[in-house]
Amino acid sequence: MANTCLNFVNGEWIRSETGETMDVLNPANPNEVVATYQQSNEADAANAVEAAVAAKEQWRNTPGPERGRILREAGTILSQRKDELTEMLIAEEGKARPEAAGEVQRAIDIFHYFSAKSADLGGTKKGASGQNTNLYTRKEPVGVAALITPWNYPIAIPAWKLAPALATGNTVVLKPASDAPGVVLELAKALDEAGLPSGVLNVVTGPGSSVGDEFIHSDDTDLVSFTGSCGVGEMVYDQATNAGKRVQTELGGKNPTLVTASADPAEAAGIVATGGFGTTGQSCTACSRAIVHEDVYDDFVAELVDRAESIDVGPGIDHEMGPQANEAELSSTLEYIDIATTEGATLATGGGVPEGEWAEDGYFVEPTVFTDVDPEMRIAQEEVFGPVIAVLKVDSYEEGVEVANGVDFGLSASIVTNDHSEANRFIDDIEAGVVKVNEKTTGLELHVPFGGFKRSSSETWREQGDAGIDFYTIEKTVYDNY
Ligand code: NAD
Repeated sequence: MANTCLNFVNGEWIRSETGETMDVLNPANPNEVVATYQQSNEADAANAVEAAVAAKEQWRNTPGPERGRILREAGTILSQRKDELTEMLIAEEGKARPEAAGEVQRAIDIFHYFSAKSADLGGTKKGASGQNTNLYTRKEPVGVAALITPWNYPIAIPAWKLAPALATGNTVVLKPASDAPGVVLELAKALDEAGLPSGVLNVVTGPGSSVGDEFIHSDDTDLVSFTGSCGVGEMVYDQATNAGKRVQTELGGKNPTLVTASADPAEAAGIVATGGFGTTGQSCTACSRAIVHEDVYDDFVAELVDRAESIDVGPGIDHEMGPQANEAELSSTLEYIDIATTEGATLATGGGVPEGEWAEDGYFVEPTVFTDVDPEMRIAQEEVFGPVIAVLKVDSYEEGVEVANGVDFGLSASIVTNDHSEANRFIDDIEAGVVKVNEKTTGLELHVPFGGFKRSSSETWREQGDAGIDFYTIEKTVYDNY
């Protein structure tokens, strides 16, 4: 019998007022119910906001180093539970073990990073025009932060929103994605054990259209940080900005790797395969377009196909590439494979569901490569969010950049080249929030800003590093004439 998990509101573990629950299934074997969660509604969300409002004064007045001590302690508790959290993440979301373990470690590192930051929020002292005057700025918490998160990094993304929000003295209401909420409730448990006062963090599981919607529309939430799809995120952005809130939305991507004439095709194929097939292609920064110079195109394609065919697909617990996270994601990937074929791209490898007894029920798909892709095809324009790489041929650096920039997204981009000046031109020319040279498009450091151009992000605020502190604080300028 699967464990029934509760909401965490005002320091207590409670049932939803609806009396209803939702099951989370193992994507590698959907016959297995991993855990059961509260199917909460607007009233549950409103109670959580009320608790966050009540806790506001106490938490904002708690000295930064003390807030940091609680974050550090929570990070230590999480590290003691790393194996358990890794297993939970694999069971709910499907990631391969090294990816899941890496993601849990990232969450721990984020807590430790922002623990240190909480004693060092910045602020500046300036020379005043008058005598006997202290003129300085300081950063204060904004208020109640509403955090809405996706399933694809179910512990790292909540951690990179939650840790800076708490470090800077905000209280929080958090709605995790319904596919993998378990690890978020574990974050709440660790913070509770570390001594976080009641009401400072409140986690409510349930549908975005009720719980998330209430968080966004409540008069008592002051900022909204959302990561998820463009469709939902753009609506959230409009609604929350119209309601006068500070808003940050991190959305989809269609990330290119440009492989130039000077690149080593084998090295480039390795970079593209890791970026495109890692996490089953379910990273917002996943490489989904390889834009390849004609001089190295044939060798590159042969190497990429080899790599795709050597990937060991299966349950994430003991295979290299896990399943898609849910049935809808698998159907959507298979639909894009059909569309690409119909539009005239060449299926170079993959394109189907792998064979094997273990594969019958799970949401598995083969690593897939399409060649002869035209830049206007849907497979080259729309986010697929599965292990599908479109390869496009170009005859110059200039054409490559034009193709790379010719989409609505601009999250991450990379170039593989042995030409230093070409690399630097790419840094200048590419329309993306993250640009990498001779590296995969995925993989981020936690202490530098993250966000995209165009439809990939609302361009107002970045996440992570000092940008995380900026989003969750408001500046006050003090003229102190003594
Ligand atoms: P999603 O938009 O379906 O859901 C994201 C969250 O929004 C979930 O918690 C969901 O319950 C909630 N939600 C749904 N409807 C809502 C509503 N009406 N009001 C408020 N909240 C609502 O996204 P997903 O499928 O969970 O995640 C995959 C997407 O996330 C991909 O497009 C991916 O590119 C994107 N993503 C972006 C980044 C980034 O930093 N740019 C990082 C990871 C994932």
